Formats: sequence, structure tokens, C-alpha cells
Amino acid sequence: MRKQGYEGRYGKRYTERKNRRKKVRIQRITLLGTAVLTACLIAVGGTRIGAAMEERRLLEARNESFVGAPPFDVELLDVNEYSRPGIPLEQINGIVIHYTANPGSTAQNNRDYFEGLKDSHETKVSSHFVVGIEGEIVQCIPSSEIAYASNSRNSDTLSIECCHTDETGEFTEATYTSLVRLTGWLCYRFNLTSEDVIRHYDVTGKICPKYYVAHPEAWEQFKADVGEQIKVVEQEVLAAEGE
Ligand SMILES: [Zn+2]
Repeated sequence: MRKQGYEGRYGKRYTERKNRRKKVRIQRITLLGTAVLTACLIAVGGTRIGAAMEERRLLEARNESFVGAPPFDVELLDVNEYSRPGIPLEQINGIVIHYTANPGSTAQNNRDYFEGLKDSHETKVSSHFVVGIEGEIVQCIPSSEIAYASNSRNSDTLSIECCHTDETGEFTEATYTSLVRLTGWLCYRFNLTSEDVIRHYDVTGKICPKYYVAHPEAWEQFKADVGEQIKVVEQEVLAAEGE
């Protein structure tokens, strides 16, 4: 009865007016909400895009940097389907360490072996870098292309082959030192950490690099040494920027 009286007193038009005002208010709130949300999204999106662009610029600068690199010879293989397929390496998510399993061979020997595969067709194998017994380093494949070294990880890693003097596969001090310097620099250059450095063994279970599969503690020490080397490279880059 009360409700009836209420309606009776103010009539249907009052209710309609009230509803219309309510509708307009809701529309305004919705509109304002949408505007605020859009502004927020643009701000966040803009910041994100800005941050992403800055990150990209820094990464590109890093990719171009040779500060902190150990000396190495660039002796690129000819493009051929057995050792340098010329396929772009789209992303670098890790570095895979190998041993040659050929005691006494030099970095040059191994590089020449890869090169010879274009004629011998013996197998498909290669590596981006080879580190020799004297600590010499030869680059065989540019870091922008894939190598045939690490099976399923060929598509997103760089590879380093290491020479060794005997069947144990232990690296000489010179090889070890050059490998730490090379790996540390590559980690810095491609924005990786020492945790992104893996053994061939970690990809396929192959006993490679032999000594560092047989001695996990030596492998952990190697990764720690790479971690320290990354910091050294960072310091060298900072010093170079300050010049
Ligand atoms: Zn291997």
C-alpha cells in the first residue's frame, strides 16, 4: 500500500526521470572509468615500450662490444651444409662447452677438420669457437649463425670446443684460462649468466666434456670462475665508457 501511495504521489514520470538520471550517471562513471583505464594503459604501455627499447639498445651495444674479450683469431669456415649451414641463430640462451675427444690436436687442427667436411662429407659437426692447448682461440662460425655441435640446443646456443692433451680430457691451465675469459665475455655480450653455461652432457647425456662430467666439482668451479669473469668484463666495460 505504501509503495502504491508513493507512486501515486509522484507518478510514473518521476520514476522515469530518476531512472534516466541514474542511467546518465552510470554512463558518466563508465566513461570516466574507461578514460582513466585507457590513460593508465597508455602510461604503463609507454613505459614498458620505453623500457623495452632501452633494453634493446643496451643489448645491441653489448652485442657489438669487444671490450673484455680475450684475443682470438677469426677463421670462418666456408658456408657448407656439413659444418657451416649458414642458418641464422635467432636467439642465444646459453653456451655449451665441449671437448674434442682427440688428445693432442690443436685449435687449428680442429678448425681445419670442420672446414674439410665440406669436401669429405664425413659427418656434420662444427663449433663456434675452438680453444687450443696453448690457450689460443679460433672462431669458426659467426655468433649470428648456428653450428653443428649441441644437438637440440644448436638452435639457441653458442658452442666452444676445447682441446686437451690426454684421455682424461682435463684442460691445460692455458686452455682453462682462455675458456674462462672467452665464456665470461660471451656471457656479458649476450646477457647471460654463468647458469646459462652448460656441458654437452647436460643436453644429451654424452660424456662431453669428459673431465668435467667425471668431476662435477671441477665443473661447478668453472662456472664460479665464469661468474667472476663476467664481473671483470663489466668492470672493463665501465672503465672503457669512462675514458
Ligand atoms: Zn660435445
